[in-house]
Amino acid sequence: MRLKEKVAIITGSTNGIGRAAARLFAREGAKVVLNGRRQSRGEDVLNELQNNGYDSIFVRGDVSVSEEAKNIVDSALSRYGRIDILYNNAGVWDKEKDGTLVDIDEDDWDRIIALNLKSTYLMCKYTIPHMVAQKNGSIINTASIVALLGLGDRDAYCAAKSAIISLNKSVAAKYGHSGIRSNVIYPGSVRTDMVDNELLKDPEILKNWITVCPIPRVGEPEEIANLALFLASDESSFITGTDIVADGGYMIVP
Ligand code: NAD
Repeated sequence: MRLKEKVAIITGSTNGIGRAAARLFAREGAKVVLNGRRQSRGEDVLNELQNNGYDSIFVRGDVSVSEEAKNIVDSALSRYGRIDILYNNAGVWDKEKDGTLVDIDEDDWDRIIALNLKSTYLMCKYTIPHMVAQKNGSIINTASIVALLGLGDRDAYCAAKSAIISLNKSVAAKYGHSGIRSNVIYPGSVRTDMVDNELLKDPEILKNWITVCPIPRVGEPEEIANLALFLASDESSFITGTDIVADGGYMIVP
């Protein structure tokens, strides 16, 4: 087992990529701290893991809210006494409220930045001191290939995801000597509710994606979870401060 006895917090793990990672990390021996904003969804995933014999807890909370983020970290410590892996997966792509910076409402800007960026800052802020004390930890952050593009109509999401790339480098540089590694995943289009409501529902957009993408399909949540598993495990012990694109090759096509 690749994560035997390790304790992993996975934010936004009641759906999509986070849920796939929770299942995979548990199968690989981790004690998984599940998180999401909806109690019922959290209980569903928790029941599934526990019914399979895995040791896991669910902590309801919005990771963009300081006390709620802290509560996730405190709950993990009080149940398991340590945190080996922090997978900052939670994120929101709000096609209704996001837009160009001229048009986007200021409150919506703040909310989208908070959900995607402040959440990463808060979870790192509360977890890192414990990882420093343990002299060990792996942090996995989530950006997106759109952080590398001039998308033009999702400015808050793109700005937040770009900032995560920089934050990741700072964490890796500062805490490497304390035994902490920090890396970023950039997913391309992955089959979850996030894209289901847009890309996958529009045959024209989907056709364009598949025509351009060297691996001509969208990704599956499990394919991102596999990469997160590698970064979480000791197999990536000499890898920090870096970013890995998992997009079926979409970004290499001019
Ligand atoms: P999803 O919507 O299926 O799942 C995200 C989960 O995170 C949801 O359960 C949501 O409720 C939760 N969440 C969001 N904000 C939260 C908060 N503040 N506190 C707690 N939980 C919160 O999305 P997904 O596709 O699985 O996305 C996972 C990550 O991957 C996100 O960061 C997203 O930006 C990123 N990403 C996804 C794609 C894709 O194509 N699916 C592409 C690029 C990046």
